[in-house]
Amino acid sequence: MLNSFLRRPVWLIITGLIIFGITFASGCSKVAGPAAKDSTSTSAPEVTPRVAAQLTSTPEAASTEEIPPTPIKELLERPLYKISANLDYPNHQLIVEERILVSNPAGKFLDEIDLVVPPNNWPGVFSIQDITAGDLPLEGYSLTGVTLSLDLGDSGWQPDELLELQIRYTLNLPPQNSLRGYGPSPFGYTSLQTNLVDWYPMVPPYQEDEGWLIHKPWIFGEYLVYPAADFEISLNLGTPGLIVAASSASLTEGDPLQYTLSEARNFVFSISPAYQVLEADLNGVKVYGYILPGYQVPGQAALEASLQALTLYQDLYGPYQQASLSMVQADFNHGMEYEGLFFLSRGFFDTYTGSEKSYLVTIAVHETAHQWWYGQVANDQALEPWLDEAFCTYSELAYYENLYPQSVDWWWATRVNYYQPSGRIDRSIYGFQDFVDQYLSYRNATYLQGAKFLAALKDYLGEEEFYRFLREYGFRNRNQIATSDDFFEVLGEYLDLKELTWLGDYFLIK
Ligand SMILES: [Zn+2]
Repeated sequence: MLNSFLRRPVWLIITGLIIFGITFASGCSKVAGPAAKDSTSTSAPEVTPRVAAQLTSTPEAASTEEIPPTPIKELLERPLYKISANLDYPNHQLIVEERILVSNPAGKFLDEIDLVVPPNNWPGVFSIQDITAGDLPLEGYSLTGVTLSLDLGDSGWQPDELLELQIRYTLNLPPQNSLRGYGPSPFGYTSLQTNLVDWYPMVPPYQEDEGWLIHKPWIFGEYLVYPAADFEISLNLGTPGLIVAASSASLTEGDPLQYTLSEARNFVFSISPAYQVLEADLNGVKVYGYILPGYQVPGQAALEASLQALTLYQDLYGPYQQASLSMVQADFNHGMEYEGLFFLSRGFFDTYTGSEKSYLVTIAVHETAHQWWYGQVANDQALEPWLDEAFCTYSELAYYENLYPQSVDWWWATRVNYYQPSGRIDRSIYGFQDFVDQYLSYRNATYLQGAKFLAALKDYLGEEEFYRFLREYGFRNRNQIATSDDFFEVLGEYLDLKELTWLGDYFLIK
């Protein structure tokens, strides 16, 4: 597959590279709610009688009366989020009604569900109006840090029940990057854009031994672990003239904007009145660039690199699964991946050199690779960050090797060897506290040394076998949260792991 890719003469087909702006009619309807309050334990105001979910309709033969149809609640393979949000863009406020439908993932009785609420990591941002749990009685809830614990009481949540949560809440968005002591996050607003990322209460994975898996936010890296989910989102803008980038393309053109997305890790928005929109079509996949004024040249370069990467990685790793991908110019110096959308640091647009030997290109293709290693195959980003970051840094090398072989040496020298990375790649984001510069040590090990490991593995296996292995690993773990054990289990089918005498250069060998 790789060879056929290389032989392709003119492979990049961009149709309809156009710039357009969209304005939306106003019509925001606000929901009144109480003022924001601190994280406290409180009782749920509404308690409804518990009725077990019906897996099948059960008409009783004994009665001759007509029986009204019983609503059938099918168990869901993935959590389903139905979110209706009203944005007050000028006042940086979002009023949200969220429904989560989730099947019991434990296979046993549970008396509690924990949700992860990333916005509550910012003080004064997240405030709950009310929570209900459908047919189940909700005895109370508590919000501590980013964990929202819902007490389902003695009658609890049975293995064959579908839980329907409804949460009404308000987000008073913070200025972007306002969290003292932490690395940048796109969440919040700048003078030019508002970013809704990790903005709603989410169902974390459930582990048999540990229960609900919620890690603590850390000063760098990512701490969230995303089970695959389905989304139905409605966004009411109210303010005219706003342009919206999202994890999928809107099904509607006016207020409210409506979206669906399946088998996805999350759903995010970036909204601005200033975006210029670049659009391309890659064999049916819509690829968008959302660019700030004055950045046309680097914007097109970043979009083209993303298109090239999307094409290459489909050859190397397997098909891209979503219908669109949006590249958004961040109004700050930080990049971040999400399902179907990524932010690319403004600093890279400022320093674009006009050639592929530019971090704008390098990081655009890195973030594109996250659609496979993060999106399709997720990992525990806190405990095993190498499982997406090493893969995506390696993917930069794959891009240069396949498209710009003359720039491979530049990539190694500038991106990796300059920093002289060494040591273990399998530490958690919390595992660098003994290092002088925690972040740099984390970056050098997880990203750079991690890429060296995968490059060494490719040299050992040979290119064709290496990518066959990666496709198989990706295929088996699609929509799952993969672990290092999963990685080595599949790798063990391609070679005898004992042959890798140098594995101790990268991993703690048990
Ligand atoms: Zn990354």
